[in-house]
Amino acid sequence: MIEKGKIFVVATPIGNLGDISERAMTTLSEVDFILCEDTRVSRNLLNSKSIPFKSLISFNAFTESKKSKSILERIKNGENCAIISDAGTPCISDPGEYFIRLCHNNEIPIVGIPGPNAAIMALSMSGFPSSSFIFDGFLPQKKGRQKNLTSLSTEGRTIILYESPYRINKLIEELNNYMPERYLMVFRELTKKFEEYWFGTPQTILESLPDRTIKGEFVVVISPLGWNPNYSES
Ligand code: SAM
Repeated sequence: MIEKGKIFVVATPIGNLGDISERAMTTLSEVDFILCEDTRVSRNLLNSKSIPFKSLISFNAFTESKKSKSILERIKNGENCAIISDAGTPCISDPGEYFIRLCHNNEIPIVGIPGPNAAIMALSMSGFPSSSFIFDGFLPQKKGRQKNLTSLSTEGRTIILYESPYRINKLIEELNNYMPERYLMVFRELTKKFEEYWFGTPQTILESLPDRTIKGEFVVVISPLGWNPNYSES
């Protein structure tokens, strides 16, 4: 009987290529094929770290359900596969969860190769309570956005959100309407050359953010209801 292959869930850098782990590099060079979002992005990473690889297969939100069955067959026939995303940890606001569930349902062994994740990096840099938090990814752009914000306004735990550069100002304005008393840590371009962050209430952050669209990637961490920035000094 053919021994089934494995699927390796491999985290890659969120900006700084130095953050790729040795285990990630070894795994990516050893597997029979790598599932990735954009082959150009992943080829750049692999080439820049001189990682020899066998094959890259584009696998994204549009192709995941269509390609999953044939890829599963290859793993069942003994091939090893890695899944990566353009940046960070696969399946965290990125494709892959459908396929990973399919692998579990078919008793394919899964191995995790941990590494960078923008949400967890921001949480650990925020100084906000981290023993209990919620990650709400990207808020819906239209339908459901107001409902989400209303429900987050009474949330008693630290909240982590992702936001695109096109909507970051709008998001902070909305937070100023829905939860003006909370404190925020807004992180831009984590691990990259122009990494920066802002701390304050939504109003003070609005005053420091440039009006124009700011390029880059953002994580917004929101303090729990009633949190006091000076609690550790009292
Ligand atoms: N899977 C990724 C992870 O593990 O963090 C997240 C992918 S999601 C499609 C992309 C979003 O993550 C960006 O829009 C931004 O909100 C956040 N993000 C990713 N890299 C970042 C960085 N270097 N600095 C700040 N935010 C980042």
